[in-house]
Amino acid sequence: MSTPTHIISLGAGVQSSAMALMAAEGMIGPMPTAAIFADTQDEPQSVYRWLDWLEEQLPFPVIRVTNGKLSSEALKVKYTKDGRRYTTTAIPYFTKDFVSGKQGKIMGRICTADFKLKPLMKEVRKLAKVCRAEKELKAIQWIGISLDEVQRMRTSELKWSMNRYPLVELEMTRHDCLRWMEKKGYPKPPRSACVFCPYHSNNEWRRLRDEEPEAFEQAAQFEQAAQFEKKHSHNMNSQVFLHRSLKPLREVDLSVDTERGQSLLSGFGNECKGMCGV
Ligand code: SF4
Repeated sequence: MSTPTHIISLGAGVQSSAMALMAAEGMIGPMPTAAIFADTQDEPQSVYRWLDWLEEQLPFPVIRVTNGKLSSEALKVKYTKDGRRYTTTAIPYFTKDFVSGKQGKIMGRICTADFKLKPLMKEVRKLAKVCRAEKELKAIQWIGISLDEVQRMRTSELKWSMNRYPLVELEMTRHDCLRWMEKKGYPKPPRSACVFCPYHSNNEWRRLRDEEPEAFEQAAQFEQAAQFEKKHSHNMNSQVFLHRSLKPLREVDLSVDTERGQSLLSGFGNECKGMCGV
């Protein structure tokens, strides 16, 4: 039986970055073979700058993988044989029924599955040399879920892969990770998520608006384009929004703090598997 390959699933937010730095310092062992970052190509620039910095601190490689640009896929218009337009619901939008005005939410996200998990698992298979119908344990994936998020922990459904949660083993919360990084003199990591992610809290929307206005504008333009496409699609009976207030992003009052990610309120914790930093 071969020794399984240890691989970090790097979201590039606070927890997975702290975990990678702890591995680099020998606080968690054994030394991973690599960290993998699945890039939706729609993260704010601060995340890409952070990744460049992080890469330089780690003794193991950071492998960036991608399945294309999520925003392009989410806006792609397709046609049925009889010429009707349709679009996929790749993003977990908030929705408002065109007729009744009823509020809803798109669940079961394609974005995490297709743009995070798929490219990541493809690379894990490659690194761990997993063959078809593999039965042996080949990969141990380190996932940056902290003690305050244990509801996101999952047992792997694959025989050849096991999930490991080093921050839970160390009983560290997100706040502990931030304090540890601060004590070590490391800079503060940004929150890693697509610029237009509907799971952003008001605090994160505000941060984008004030500190990365180009990313905020990108999100607002994406929302407008998505609204246009959905309105002219035959498979949608609702309008889509990025903010739960169902107002266009530029018009939302972001002065009131909301729960982190608006997410734990809406089932995100159960869906995310720790892949996105919202
Ligand atoms: S950050 Fe949000 S939009 Fe991007 S992949 Fe994750 S859940 Fe989807």
